[in-house]
Amino acid sequence: MNQLISLSAAELAERLRAGDVSSEEATRAHIDRIAAVDERYGAYLHVNASATEQARAIDERRAAGEQLHDLAGVPVAIKDVLTTKGMPSTSGSKMLEGWVPPYDATVVARLKAAGMVALGKTNMDEFAMGSSTEYSAFGPTRNPWDVDRVPGGSGGGSAAAVAALEAPIALGSDTGGSIRQPAAVTGTVGVKPTYGGVSRYGAIALASSLDQIGPVSRTVLDSALLHDVIGGHDPRDATSLEREWPSFAAAAKRGGASGDLSGVRFGIVKELDSEGIASDVQARFREAVAAIEAAGGEVIKVTAPSFTYAVAAYYLILPSEASSNLARFDSVRYGLRVEEPGQTVERVMAATRGAGFGPEVKRRIILGTYALSAGYYDAYYGSAQKVRTLIQRDLERAFSEADVLISPAAPTTAFKFGEKVDDPLAMYASDLTTIAANLAGTPGMSIPMGLGDGGLPTGLQLMAPMFEDERLYRYGATIEALLNQNWGGALALQNAALAEDRQPAQEGTDR
Ligand code: GLN
Repeated sequence: MNQLISLSAAELAERLRAGDVSSEEATRAHIDRIAAVDERYGAYLHVNASATEQARAIDERRAAGEQLHDLAGVPVAIKDVLTTKGMPSTSGSKMLEGWVPPYDATVVARLKAAGMVALGKTNMDEFAMGSSTEYSAFGPTRNPWDVDRVPGGSGGGSAAAVAALEAPIALGSDTGGSIRQPAAVTGTVGVKPTYGGVSRYGAIALASSLDQIGPVSRTVLDSALLHDVIGGHDPRDATSLEREWPSFAAAAKRGGASGDLSGVRFGIVKELDSEGIASDVQARFREAVAAIEAAGGEVIKVTAPSFTYAVAAYYLILPSEASSNLARFDSVRYGLRVEEPGQTVERVMAATRGAGFGPEVKRRIILGTYALSAGYYDAYYGSAQKVRTLIQRDLERAFSEADVLISPAAPTTAFKFGEKVDDPLAMYASDLTTIAANLAGTPGMSIPMGLGDGGLPTGLQLMAPMFEDERLYRYGATIEALLNQNWGGALALQNAALAEDRQPAQEGTDR
């Protein structure tokens, strides 16, 4: 197998800079890998046919002595929710099948400006609604740890691509957990930045007050490196924050090297440490807490009573905003158009939307339209917004006692295909741990926490106060190193099995 696919983005970047390897070789290794295994995993919807050519151009600039960005030449996968000039962008929907945007999302433009090479577009639940990638209009993505199980969602494609060594690093979007939950169930790292920290320009909107773009990777440092590339003010996004951010890569390096958590207060959120969490996930969480304490961290309990209502509030606010955002798919401006000869504009719109949207999207449009309708607005949308304020207050209080909050990143390990797809409430319950951070706007990270039953990955979530993404990288890198002692062996075995294209051992995998 080609060693280049198992390197982290940081390692690959270093070799590129040293001239040990070219971007063309590294990119080709990944393109070959995708060609060899993606039929099994279904992580990609579209592969960039000019990736190696673009890589060669970077190599030529480097050879000519040009000063390039640290990550120049590193390949990256992009969630299909982001617009990419010249590459299809469907957001996992038939509605946008075949649409090739005329412009790049700001985050994509920033990757390109840094000389990173786009490998392609990754699969996702339609319009980023879902927790399993089963709602993609183009077929499911499979979990590389067990192909009978889902890779989480909505960004299952990005997480599976990174876990299956089909990309060193990827972009995702997180409105209610779509970066962190797939990361948790595929043994990868995923970060939802502070709301406004990364531009949403060119991200096909789901719920504009919740959406954030962020990195998925195999190491904390790699997520930090990618966050440094995509983050910072963008005048094209009205909610983009105008502030100077520290180097997250520097924070991750400081943390990773220290191995020390003394003086740091970690708050266990009581409401996220409850009966809703599967026992194998709880067991790994207890071990993670013990490791944090052994490294000098001070672990306390905090309470956020309003979290109990977070799922209910989210599933009113999200559909309300989504129903309004998705009104733009009107058969006139983009994508699908179902002609109804002799019919009115209204009939064509209805026929197009009826044919173009899948059942989950329709469910949420109907729910949201209802919640916003006259007479119901105050009772539903209004109450949900009040809960949102309470969640923000609970988090502020919790952060006056703790520097970072910790919890499992997802309530269970990866579930089987079909297990929840016909039971929306069960699917929604998988967002229990992640959505508070979206409702409050605060940053969150998922780090691999070790294997649960059946040798399936679990994730640890860190949450920090607004603007304090740096803490996630700093303490996250330290905790990553600590937990790696628990499960690094199993991960290495998994990656070796993947790389040799064997089905990894499932039962009885040694943790
Ligand atoms: N599971 C969440 C939902 O279905 C995730 C959404 C997201 O983060 N894009 O709404």
